[in-house]
Amino acid sequence: MATPLMDQYHRIKKQHPDAILFFRLGDFYEMFYEDAKTAARLLGITLTSRQKGDMRVPMAGVPYHAAATYINRLLRAGQRVAVCDQMEDPETAQGEIVDREVTRVVTPGTLIDDGVLEDKRNNFLAAVCGSGAMRGLAWIDCSTGEFQAADVTREQLIHELARLVPSECLIPASGAESDAGEVEALRRAVGVVTPFHDWTFDPANARKGLCEHFGTSSLDGFGCGDLGPAVGAAGAILEYLHETHRASLKHVTRLVRGERVGVCVLDRASIRALELTESLREGDRKTSLLGVLDRTQTAMGGRMLRDWLLGPLTGVEAIRRRQAGVRELMTDSSLRAACRRALQGMSDLERLAGKIGAGRATPRDLGGLRDTLGALPVLAAHLAEARAPILVETRADLEVPGELADLLRRALVDNPPAVMKEGGIFRAGWHEELDRLQGIGAKGKSWIAAFEADEIRRTGIPSLKVGFNAVFGYYIEVTNTHREKIPADYHRKQTLKNAERYVTPALKKQEEEILHAEERARKLSQGLFVELRDRAAGFIPALQRVARAAAVLDVLAALADAAVEHDYVLPDVDDGGRIEIVDGRHPVVERTISDRFVPNDVLLDTDGHRVVILTGPNMAGKSTYIRQVAVLVLLAQVGSALPARSARIGVADRIFTRVGAADDLARGASTFMVEMNETAAILHNATPRSLVILDEVGRGTSTYDGLAIAWAVTEHLLERTRARTLFATHYHELTELARLMPGVKNYHVAVREWGEGVVFLHKILEGGTDKSYGLHVARLAGVPRDVVARARAILAALEEAALDEADRPRAARRPKERSGEPRQLSLFGGRPGEKAGAEGEEAGTEPGPEGAGGMGRASRVARAVARSAAAPAAPVEDPLRQALKALDINQLTPIQALEKLAELRRAAGGGGAAPGSIPS
Ligand code: ADP
Ligand code: MG
Repeated sequence: MATPLMDQYHRIKKQHPDAILFFRLGDFYEMFYEDAKTAARLLGITLTSRQKGDMRVPMAGVPYHAAATYINRLLRAGQRVAVCDQMEDPETAQGEIVDREVTRVVTPGTLIDDGVLEDKRNNFLAAVCGSGAMRGLAWIDCSTGEFQAADVTREQLIHELARLVPSECLIPASGAESDAGEVEALRRAVGVVTPFHDWTFDPANARKGLCEHFGTSSLDGFGCGDLGPAVGAAGAILEYLHETHRASLKHVTRLVRGERVGVCVLDRASIRALELTESLREGDRKTSLLGVLDRTQTAMGGRMLRDWLLGPLTGVEAIRRRQAGVRELMTDSSLRAACRRALQGMSDLERLAGKIGAGRATPRDLGGLRDTLGALPVLAAHLAEARAPILVETRADLEVPGELADLLRRALVDNPPAVMKEGGIFRAGWHEELDRLQGIGAKGKSWIAAFEADEIRRTGIPSLKVGFNAVFGYYIEVTNTHREKIPADYHRKQTLKNAERYVTPALKKQEEEILHAEERARKLSQGLFVELRDRAAGFIPALQRVARAAAVLDVLAALADAAVEHDYVLPDVDDGGRIEIVDGRHPVVERTISDRFVPNDVLLDTDGHRVVILTGPNMAGKSTYIRQVAVLVLLAQVGSALPARSARIGVADRIFTRVGAADDLARGASTFMVEMNETAAILHNATPRSLVILDEVGRGTSTYDGLAIAWAVTEHLLERTRARTLFATHYHELTELARLMPGVKNYHVAVREWGEGVVFLHKILEGGTDKSYGLHVARLAGVPRDVVARARAILAALEEAALDEADRPRAARRPKERSGEPRQLSLFGGRPGEKAGAEGEEAGTEPGPEGAGGMGRASRVARAVARSAAAPAAPVEDPLRQALKALDINQLTPIQALEKLAELRRAAGGGGAAPGSIPS
């Protein structure tokens, strides 16, 4: 059964057991055996089989020109693909079969194909190693060559991965077996986890490999000399690329130290809750902050904006530098328009540099590069008058490598082809020999035309034609009607249905000359193109610099454009602890609702306004408001303008946002545990300079637990962490904190009661609420009237019960502090440890003996509800009422009426007959 071809297949497959092997056969990539079955299932392509001796081999194939899309789909399904190509031309191959080799292994993190990668998003490959408290992290975008490394703590590692969202992450193979828990955590944070050879992570090995690649003697020049495990991670990445890519990595020109200094770290939960890059529910980019702000004209700008949003700055000077750029572009609308116009249609220089470095740039790519380089001086000229330092600097960095621009302009035709095989790449005059060979081809073609005319004259056959096809070459075609007129020197070559094809020695000779010249021209032009591309590769660092500058300008202009269009202002940014916003709006909600958005103010500081408790009914706008504050602070630190009348922002070192589990609908698997985990992370990590946004935290559990937790968390934030905090809660009991502790302010969302309904005004006002309006909302939502009425009765009974049994109003009192012990508060009055019957039942913070609290609560609720049932909603008819109803006034004389009235009065207790004896 073994054929040479299948032998070759097995030999190659053995080297790539963990990848699906795309085996090039003619115009198809074929897959065999298990690969074929997997691919057929994942791609929905037909599974066929091929007889091999006495065995049937499952196979499936995809056309080679469509391979990129299929590969991408396999990658998304978590597979990797080894692409095996034909290394020689089948027509000229010497051996029994064509030589084949794997030219690259495509994995999610090493993708560089156009049309598969998202333009405005980096595709990162990461590597993680190290044990104990420190981790080495490195990441690269293979399409651009951006390569960074940082030593991080375990906590930082998770934040970094949440920001980078790598599509693949390498770990040492031995770690994959030994630390299942950590691998599982990684798996949640990244697309695919790939175990890779341990030795590649070894810092000494890695350092050597990196220095070799960069052609340096140490990593000091990159400021990475003292990196620890991060060097190992970077080395593993480099080795992995060598192993998978089999292409040059000339575009990987430097290793950047990736520590996040001067950056406000956002964790995964905050990125999600603030909907920075995608909306919470639909995962939609359009209705995210990025979607609203992204007016960038280039892909590189789009990627940079995303990076800026996920890494707001903490340094006031750095923020003001960006602000100055945005301000100038906001005020000078003609400068803004000119820059945006010049940026539009600019190629993705960063990825072009990547393709040049990897040896994958096509003639069309270099044509795009030439055009973009041509447009850059125009862009730079617009900036000639700019004053903001960031714009001045950008202008300097836009300086085009003139030599490269000139080279490409002279070399390439106006519209170079997408593939280099076909020729037609170079301008006349670029290369003498190429011109000569192309001249022969062209001359040969006119010779053919003349030859045809001569033959028509000589033979007298008007329909005689000279044609060409790839198999038979040039031929003379004569229809059968003229067969008798054929001259003796014509040699028959091919017979068709109605015609015969011939050649003559002269035609044959000419054909050889033409084909020979064309073939040589093609070969030559391919060689010349590779040479041109290699020369361009020498300019990669310069191209990367230009790309970064263009991206910065693009982002600044985009921010300015959004600011002008949506009426934003630049905030005053400083190091003080005050956050003061007048008439702030939520940038995304204001664009997505049809109603008018109601602006709101905010004041937070490190003193009397440290913690704001925001209460109000469901749907009032609490979540929108508190997120709005976080988003505006974030925008300020990005350097952007923000939707408000005016704003002063004391920068935050971190912005934490937590949404109570019950409110976080999008995350199906959300649990109270997750909510508490995230809350714990805030309590451990927030500082007085942090901004903490809590939305209904504590809601994921029962009322009393939840309230108790919310209360304790707030206390901790207020007194220990001292972070600026906004807490939206439906536990209006929390408002009592304001009376007890300085630094807490109550706000509520204004609601107008309207008959039995409510109207949401979305206006935030000072003071707390003592009403939760849940019933109003239930009514608005269409819950049947009698259910709402019954709920109202139960509510009244419960509230009354709380008064009755606690024997006083529900108010929290602050017990005396006991030295050394953490201060505790009981929520509904009563001191911890105080012996109390009914009280013990209520104190949610105090675990009652043997769960008596729970039982007591249940029975109390039951009693109250039972009592409410006894107070009838529709009262039972009483005898007086019955008697009144029974009266027929038309049948009574005035005297009788008076008598009746007296009788009824007596019945009502006004003296006289008992109720039972009313005459009818
Ligand atoms: P809550 O958290 O109080 O239940 P949300 O913040 O989810 O309320 O807001 C409910 C809805 O009210 C939002 O979807 C939005 O359409 C609207 N809304 C919120 N704030 C405003 C505002 N300031 N102006 C206008 N509409 C708003
Ligand atoms: Mg809410």
